[in-house]
Amino acid sequence: MEQISSEQIFAMRQRDVARALRQVLPEHCVLHNEEDTRPYECDGLAAFRQLPMVVCLPENESQIIATLEVCRRLQVPIVPRGAGTGLSGGAMPIADGIVLSTAKLNKILKVDAYARTAVVQPGVRNLAISEAVSAHDLYYAPDPSSQIACTIGGNVAENSGGVHCLKYGLTVHNVLRVRVVTVDGDVVELGSEALDAPGLDLLAVFIGSEGMLGIVTEVTVKLIPKPQVARVIMASFDDVVKGGNAVANVIAAGIIPAGLEMMDKTSSRMVEPFVKAGYDIDAEAILLCESDGTNEEVEEEIARMTAVLEQAGATAIAVSQSDAERLRFWSGRKNAFPAAGRISPDYYCMDGTIPRKRLAEVLIGITHMETKYGLRCANVFHAGDGNLHPLIMFDANQPGEFERAEAFGAEILELCVTVGGTITGEHGVGIEKINSMCVQFSRAELDAFFAVKRAFDTRSLLNPDKAIPTLHRCAEYGRMHVKQGRLAFPDLPRF
Ligand SMILES: Cc1cc2nc3c(=O)[nH]c(=O)nc-3n(C[C@H](O)[C@H](O)[C@H](O)COP(=O)(O)OP(=O)(O)OC[C@H]3O[C@@H](n4cnc5c(N)ncnc54)[C@H](O)[C@@H]3O)c2cc1C
Repeated sequence: MEQISSEQIFAMRQRDVARALRQVLPEHCVLHNEEDTRPYECDGLAAFRQLPMVVCLPENESQIIATLEVCRRLQVPIVPRGAGTGLSGGAMPIADGIVLSTAKLNKILKVDAYARTAVVQPGVRNLAISEAVSAHDLYYAPDPSSQIACTIGGNVAENSGGVHCLKYGLTVHNVLRVRVVTVDGDVVELGSEALDAPGLDLLAVFIGSEGMLGIVTEVTVKLIPKPQVARVIMASFDDVVKGGNAVANVIAAGIIPAGLEMMDKTSSRMVEPFVKAGYDIDAEAILLCESDGTNEEVEEEIARMTAVLEQAGATAIAVSQSDAERLRFWSGRKNAFPAAGRISPDYYCMDGTIPRKRLAEVLIGITHMETKYGLRCANVFHAGDGNLHPLIMFDANQPGEFERAEAFGAEILELCVTVGGTITGEHGVGIEKINSMCVQFSRAELDAFFAVKRAFDTRSLLNPDKAIPTLHRCAEYGRMHVKQGRLAFPDLPRF
């Protein structure tokens, strides 16, 4: 009897799933040919790729509900996707699953300038919200560097941050309500138009849940008034330790800047030829400290921050004299990730958070790791939040370099945990940091995370195998990975 190959079995399954989806979605909203699905094979973490079986692009909430009904019936895993700018593989497809893109749900449904809120669909780009409400002198505060492209649905799923989140909060602090379709097809609203909602705070549970608990179909965001004026200080330091300590000193002085970011020498040398912002390329560290508010408030805060920075040992200080100059000072920081492509064929952007007062020692630790792994690393990050973004440079064409970059990244995250921090700040866990979750959390904590997932997604169809590692996975990682002479999960079998 003729044997059926695994390719033939996959092709039959793909045809059946695509056909079932075309019964509930318009023909042009279901893609399954390789040339159409290839653009969805990865997110911003391009080192990991997987072609999806089918891509769906529903045009409204009813079509999302219908798509989920088909997936339940045929037992097909679902990977939600916004713009695919995520850096932890959260939107990376699963071979036998669909990608459910919200790109076509891209309307701003309502702007209420008096209540200072906007209701938007999940595929609306972050920056598009601020552009749409600009005429009311309002804006949406969380500003990821990817804001020109990333969607509010992705921001909710990752609890995204940005330069202004130190003062104005992360996504979780700027979203009032989300409308969600659960995998069972139920529509639920979490949060409310008011500042609080009755019952358990499931909105906070949902924000940052990385597409594992439901599909966001509508988001109500808070808007805030544009400040009268904003100015930024650019301060140089001849030593990263002094720069790191200056960050802690600014906050300790009771100042919450509108932004407090740091670039090391590798970063400023990387971006300066690209943006020509006037960075001091001989400085070991540059701090950018923004103040916003009324003219009087900004003048006073700039003077206070200048004094703290001088006392911390700044070797040069420049204050923006116009908004054009302020944006020029920020341009290098905002373009640092793409600029890495100028000096390295590939780079790996890590994301961990540490207590501010440990900044200097962690930066020194990363320098030692550069020697250990034989790879360069640039540091450009949200210093005020203690949120590091080491950019590890490597060449994927050189055998072993990617593996070394991965090990380098994992060791940075371990150092973050050791000094009392976390393995992620704003990019999420996805597939990238799933092993590092075993370092951060105990077995009981991981069990609790799975229990929350199961409460929303009993069938485990939504973005399975992302963000929460199985105990089996941790045991495998633990076998390879003995920390300070101790196994992370000593009670689990070691193969
Ligand atoms: C150059 C660059 C700079 C960046 N800078 C920052 C930064 O400063 N701060 C920051 O926080 N991040 C930053 N990021 C990371 C990324 O832009 C954010 O994580 C962003 O929120 C992802 O949005 P997205 O629409 O691209 O989502 P995607 O990458 O498509 O998806 C991200 C996650 O959200 C889930 N998801 C998407 N839409 C939905 C939905 N409707 N319902 C349920 N789940 C959904 C996906 O399953 C996935 O798990 C940067 C990325 C790049 C490439």
